[in-house]
Parts: sequence; C-alpha cells; structure tokens
Amino acid sequence: MTSQTSVKTLLILGASGDLTGRLLLPGLARLVSLGRADGLNLVGAGSDAWTPEKWHSRVHDAFAPAAETADAAGRKALTALEKATSYHQLDVTAEGALASLLAGLEGPVAVYFALPPRISQLACEALHPGQVPAGTRLVMEKPFGSSEESAQSLNRTLAALVPEDHIHRVDHFLGKATVLNILGLRFANNFLEPVWNRDHVEKVEIIFDEDLALEGRARYYDGAGALRDMIQSHLLQIMALVAMEPPATIGERDLRDAVATVLRASSISSPCAKSTRRARYTAGTIAGRKVPDYAKEDGVDAGRGTETLAEVRVDIDNWRWQGVPFILRSGKALGVKRKEAVITFRPVPHLPSGFTGVDSPNKLRIGFGPDTLQFDVDVNGPGSIFSLSRVTLNAELSASELLPYGEVLEGVLNGDPLLSVRGDTAEDCWRIIEPVMKAWQRGSVLLEEYDAGSSGPPGWPASVPAG
Ligand code: NDP
Repeated sequence: MTSQTSVKTLLILGASGDLTGRLLLPGLARLVSLGRADGLNLVGAGSDAWTPEKWHSRVHDAFAPAAETADAAGRKALTALEKATSYHQLDVTAEGALASLLAGLEGPVAVYFALPPRISQLACEALHPGQVPAGTRLVMEKPFGSSEESAQSLNRTLAALVPEDHIHRVDHFLGKATVLNILGLRFANNFLEPVWNRDHVEKVEIIFDEDLALEGRARYYDGAGALRDMIQSHLLQIMALVAMEPPATIGERDLRDAVATVLRASSISSPCAKSTRRARYTAGTIAGRKVPDYAKEDGVDAGRGTETLAEVRVDIDNWRWQGVPFILRSGKALGVKRKEAVITFRPVPHLPSGFTGVDSPNKLRIGFGPDTLQFDVDVNGPGSIFSLSRVTLNAELSASELLPYGEVLEGVLNGDPLLSVRGDTAEDCWRIIEPVMKAWQRGSVLLEEYDAGSSGPPGWPASVPAG
C-alpha cells in the first residue's frame, strides 16, 4: 500500500553534513521504498557550490542500501526521487536567502535544519513571519538551545513563524515503536499498573551505556558531554514515559500533556554532590580494541573537564512517585553495552519461613533497540522444591520496519507531532538539569576517572548486565 504525504517538499538544509548523509537520507530511502512517502520532492541546500551531479551522487549512495532490499515498486520510487531532486547553494543566515528559496518550492514544505545549532538559530532569526508560506513545517535537531533561557528564546522565534504543531523538535531516540511498546506494556496489563507506584517500586534506573568512545566527534561532544548529550534529552523523555499518568488516548495532545506534567514535577535534589556523579574515561581496551585517553583525543580541550559518564538522581514530586529515586545514567567507552530501563520492586513484606535460597526483588527490564522485555522472578527449584531461585522471563517486542530517522521523517511528512518534543517540555528538560550544569561548572562535584572498557569509576556500583 502506498501513501501520499501531506508535505510536498522536504528541504534539507545542511545537505553536505554528517546527519544528512548517515541518518536522514537512509531513513528517507526506507520510507520511500516502502511506498510511505509518495509524491514527495527532495531538495538539498548547503553553503558549498555543489554541482547537481555531486548532490545526486550523495543521494544515490545514501539510498543504495534501501534500493538493494526494495521490491520493484520501491526501487522505481527511489530512482524517481533521485532523478528529480535538486540542490541549491545558499547561506541560510543571509537576509532573504532562505525566504526566497522557500517561495520557489512546491508547498507545503518541511524545512529540516540539519545544521550546527547556532546556524539553525540564526537561520530562523533571519526569517520573517510573512516569508514563511502557510503549512510550512520547521524541523529542529537537538540540542534545542543550550539552557532554559536560550530554549525559551528559540521557542519565541519559532512561534512567530509557524504554529506549535508545525514545529518538530526531533528526538530520534524515541522511535514510535519504543514509545508505543512502553505505553502498551504499562497500560494494557492490569497486573502492572496497580503496583507501578511508590508503594511497590523501590527504584527506577534508566541506563544508556555505550561501548563506543569519542569516535572522532570531539567538535560536538567536547562542548556537550554526557549530561547534555543524553540525559537532558533522551533519558528524561524515556523517564517521562515510564513515570507518566495513564493518558486517555495515545493522540499527541493527551500523550504530550502527560509527558509535560510529569517532567514539571521532576527535579534533581540539592546538593548535587549527593545526587549526581560525573567521570571521564582514561585509556583502556574494549573488546580487544585500544581506546586512547579521552583527554588526549584530537580536538578535546582537557581543561574543559567534559564528562563522558554522567549519573543523576531525579525526584518526581507527586503522589505516585514521592521518595522513589529515578537514576539516569549514560556514558561512553564502557565495557558492557546497556540500553534499558530497570524497574526494581520492593521485597515481599514477609517470605513464609521454610523457604531457602535467594529471595531477590523482582526486576522488570525494558530494553531499547532492539526492544525487549525481561522479568526477573523467584521460583521454586530446581532441585529442592523449598529452595528459591531466580529465572528470567523474556519477550521480544515489536520493531519498526523503518530506521529511527524514517520514523521521525514520517511524523514530519504526515504532520504528526506525536514524536516531537513539545516547546514547554524542551524548556523544562533544561530547567531540570541546569542546577547540575552550574554545580559541575563550579567544580562542586569531583570529575572522577574510569578506564575505557571498565564498568565505571571504582566505587560506583558495578553495572548489572541485562539477562
Ligand atoms: P555537520 O557539521 O556535519 O554539518 C553541518 C552542515 O551545515 C554542513 O552541511 C554545512 O555545510 C552546513 N552549514 C553550516 N553553515 C551553513 C550556512 N551558513 N549556510 C548553509 N549551510 C551551512 O553537522 P551534523 O550533520 O553532524 O549535525 C547537524 C545537526 O544535527 C546538529 O544540530 C547536530 O547537533 C544534530 N545531530 C547530529 C547527529 C549526528 O550523528 N551527526 C545526531 C543527532 C543530532 P558546509 O560544510 O557547506 O558549510
């Protein structure tokens, strides 16, 4: 089945950039090859004087993997889009440049700002309300601002150009399948929701540990660090889905209201020396691969003290979660790769005397990419029926046939802001982490060290591998 998009033209600003080549175009290709973006025009723009051939060749290379697995109709759609695409040279920050390009394109247009954040901001400031045709959608990448104040200012600029539901603040971590998998698990199972609260849950951990190191991304990462790169955006969004109240529908209004409500109740308790930790990796080995000291990597300013591992305890001040710690942690160059939310339940109030063996708290683990579910429970045996032992129930959750950026683009092209971060939420996520940014800048929290390939600094609880 094929479907027309409500957007007629996708304009990618930053056509020569890494995001466009590695993630956006391949995501688009899968969407097109599955017949889910029929009738779409693709236009690239950049500050370099590219020939049409150079742009066509970039698109062709990025489309190739999707073309290989597509059926005949899918290949035809990809070839047609490749043939028709055009490239425009412009400085998006120059007065009138983007506006006149927009005026010449078939609308409605989705403008994808695949640009350095500062340039995206300048490009939006250079646009005036009357220059943006009705129906235009603006797609903003992360990071959205660099503080609560700058996010507010960017929101004001965007609000003067298009309505809020035409602004897509991308968080590609939250693919549609992942969001719906969490909501389905929580709200379609009556045995879970009654125990999903402070009476039965001891703690919630949301972990994104990577075994990848800097991988040449110093220019971006050294100015960001793990707190801004991962916790400020992706992990707070996942926390909101795990902690939010049941929405009446899974429409964007109800869902994004519920996300915003729980984030407004969230904060990182003071002092940060007790509720946060940070560390930076030194040289080490990961799966036989030598990893250099972060501070000595090309492009890193060691004096900045950028953390490559961050952990914060978020408190949610509402009836359901009062007193339950939400531990959000993300780091690079760790020995064990983990992407999961772990819900640890309280121990049973009384284990009948006579049982032996281990009685550990139940844990529910929701794994991300691939999406999985694991439930650790105590059962009797094997061997003595009086002896308890631990088993894990496993399930694989449904995956999307699209790449993460295909899901993002599908939402944009169909005018569905469900997966986009709403303006108030984008500001609130900065509000939550700003006290930590300030405390770390003041040096109130020691920057610890860990060997690349280890589970973190000595003394931090060892990473508990899934399964
Ligand atoms: P790059 O530095 O690779 O690309 C930036 C692009 O912006 C280049 O095509 C550059 O063109 C263009 N550009 C810069 N200045 C201008 C200008 N004045 N007018 C027109 N074009 C201009 O960045 P990325 O692709 O890595 O990142 C883009 C955005 O996506 C950033 O906001 C980033 O935070 C975000 N992001 C990136 C991810 C990634 O994996 N790369 C992942 C998640 C988010 P030229 O070289 O011709 O100047």
